[in-house]
Amino acid sequence: MPARSYLKCISCNADFDVHDKLYTCARCGDLLDVTYEFAYDRDYLKRTFRERRLSNHPLDRSGVWRFRELLAFYDDPKHIVTMSEGNTPIFLAPRSARYAGIHKLQFKHQGLNPTGSFKDNGMTSGVTQARALSARVVACASTGNTSASMAAYAAQAGLLAAVFIPAGQIAFGKLSQSLDYGAKTLQIDGDFDAAMQLVLELSKETDLYLLNSVNPFRLEGQKAIAIELLEQLDWQPPDHILVPGGNLGNSSAIGKGLKECYDLGLIDRLPKLHVIQAAGANPLAIMYNSKLTTLPKIGTAHTLATAIKIANPVSWKKAVRAIEWCQGSCIDVTEQEIADAKAIIGSDGIGCEPASAVTLAGLKRLVEASIVDKDENVVAILTGSLMKDPDYTVNYHMDKLYEKAIYHTETISAQGHIKASFANKPLQVAADKIAIRKLLGL
Ligand SMILES: *Cc1c(COP(=O)(O)O)cnc(C)c1O
Repeated sequence: MPARSYLKCISCNADFDVHDKLYTCARCGDLLDVTYEFAYDRDYLKRTFRERRLSNHPLDRSGVWRFRELLAFYDDPKHIVTMSEGNTPIFLAPRSARYAGIHKLQFKHQGLNPTGSFKDNGMTSGVTQARALSARVVACASTGNTSASMAAYAAQAGLLAAVFIPAGQIAFGKLSQSLDYGAKTLQIDGDFDAAMQLVLELSKETDLYLLNSVNPFRLEGQKAIAIELLEQLDWQPPDHILVPGGNLGNSSAIGKGLKECYDLGLIDRLPKLHVIQAAGANPLAIMYNSKLTTLPKIGTAHTLATAIKIANPVSWKKAVRAIEWCQGSCIDVTEQEIADAKAIIGSDGIGCEPASAVTLAGLKRLVEASIVDKDENVVAILTGSLMKDPDYTVNYHMDKLYEKAIYHTETISAQGHIKASFANKPLQVAADKIAIRKLLGL
């Protein structure tokens, strides 16, 4: 394979073999990148990626491994575990565009992955590396989607999966996946950040193989989101890309993918990359807003967008680097803005989970701040499927969505009502044709 690969520390530049079981730098403890010395011809790559679309080979059918020259860290293709991840569509969204105040907006919907979120892009590469290292047990802390995805890929690979989830804080769609795919599902008494700390320590003390996004091999698969997007756009980059930010692995990965495509000459300019956080889980947005040089402590995270409910994001330094490469920004949006943006995305016929909707809410803000112009080309990444968390959607449309609530058949206790500005309530009607015709104006 015409590329040498190694692990390289993002701050002290120490390098390590890709077969070393490391999550962070053995010298200074900072994050690691999978790094390549590429020697490819640009046109050869473009032609090869395109030709593979006609192939039925399992690696060519994957929206990650179709770009395998750029993920050349594996020695043996037999280690690759793929479920045809990626290959996600780009949808035009006219109502969402109008809501944000621009002419044209496209959503790349990562929720259309095999387990319903972009985590599959990263899990195919992470589990592949787990097999290359002969791991038996893989583990992660998760707000839900990482565990759903890891459970599926571990099952396909025949590995034991152990997931650490904050008790009572993940959406049912996600919990059901991890149970169904046979993972040992540990409900930890604490939040995501506490679960993350535990699994990180255990992975250093035992032979658990850690598959959180601190693992640089996860991000290699996720960078393919950017590569696939650029290929779908015939290598004409958009002006702006927006992505939700939680643990900040995905923004880091997309930034790395864009930068590598630029360095290889596959694109001739970099899009601006904007990371959008929820106001209750916004350390990076605070850092940018207050011009700090390190990530502030925010205490406990609060947001109904549970996929991004993270106070202490592991990959923040890589996200900062990505934003610098791509001259972007990081801002936050409120619970009300997230809920309304989600309903507007829905009105375009596109269902996403709450965390994904921060992108449209953020875009509206960036247009208002004149950071995005109404004539520019914008792509927002929808990270997960509506089906992951249907309760949120139904509660919104029934005007029963609260920032803090315990739901039963009737709401028992609730605070922080989120207004259903764009509600589409179900209609009560008798089982009677005349009544129905009247209601539908037929
Ligand atoms: C994981 C996840 C995010 C956040 O991604 P990070 O890499 O943690 O920043 C956003 N949306 C959904 C649906 C997710 O599953």
